[in-house]
Amino acid sequence: MHDLISYFIDSPTALYFAVGMISLCIGSFLNVVIFRTPKMMEQEWQQECQFLLHPEQAIIDQEKLSLSRPVSTCPKCKEPIRWYQNIPVISWLSLKGKCGTCQNPISFRYPFIEILTTLCSLVIVATFGATVQMLFGLILTWMLIALTFIDFDTQLLPDRFTLTLAAIGLAVNTFSVYTSPVSAIWGYVIGFLCLWIVYYLFKIVTGKEGMGYGDFKLLAALGAWMGPLMLPLIVLLSSLVGAIIGIILLKIRKENQPFAFGPYIAIAGWIAFIWGEKIMKVYLGG
Ligand SMILES: [Zn+2]
Repeated sequence: MHDLISYFIDSPTALYFAVGMISLCIGSFLNVVIFRTPKMMEQEWQQECQFLLHPEQAIIDQEKLSLSRPVSTCPKCKEPIRWYQNIPVISWLSLKGKCGTCQNPISFRYPFIEILTTLCSLVIVATFGATVQMLFGLILTWMLIALTFIDFDTQLLPDRFTLTLAAIGLAVNTFSVYTSPVSAIWGYVIGFLCLWIVYYLFKIVTGKEGMGYGDFKLLAALGAWMGPLMLPLIVLLSSLVGAIIGIILLKIRKENQPFAFGPYIAIAGWIAFIWGEKIMKVYLGG
């Protein structure tokens, strides 16, 4: 292990190459996570409701969805996707964005997420080098990408990601990896409370619910990773990111889609994670 780390410290090119290859595959896996997690949750809710409302009836005998089962198929012809059709980016390009069997178009989003995952991962390598910060920075990046797209698609921020992210942030910072343990705990608490207060004020004033508990948990998790001092920047950046993406989406879709705030928090959190200290120095003149 020590040899491997010193090898990567001596040879940054090898580190970029290794992380690049791994993150392409992770990107491919994230596509599955983004597509299946909401469906898995839906299936679990259905089973739970069935169990609560009609416990006497046997639970419908349906195959349980998981990240590995059933194997991925073409949504149109249901033909299983073979391993050589599942190589990140390359397969999509060589199949010219169509299913190998029925020529049904395959969304550009799949290679896009693979490329995005790789680029963001390389930014983490450039920022932290061969360190513990890099290793956990990659995990944060990958989980934020999954959360961004799941929330964008379904307006859900699953607990299994937000709470896990918070737990990892608190755990690594007991060793002061990104911030002190005390700062991580306050980051978590204040991150949760500040959006919760906004949510309640908004509800009292307008009678509507503008955000969900998922948003509070996500900001709490980011607070646990970076400490409370980074929270104002994240909130500020998320409104900025929200405004920019909102304008772009309005131009593309020309229709009113349900509003999800999570992707903006996730993107703002990632920007703050990489450049937060620099941005703060410039604006606070520190
Ligand atoms: Zn097909």
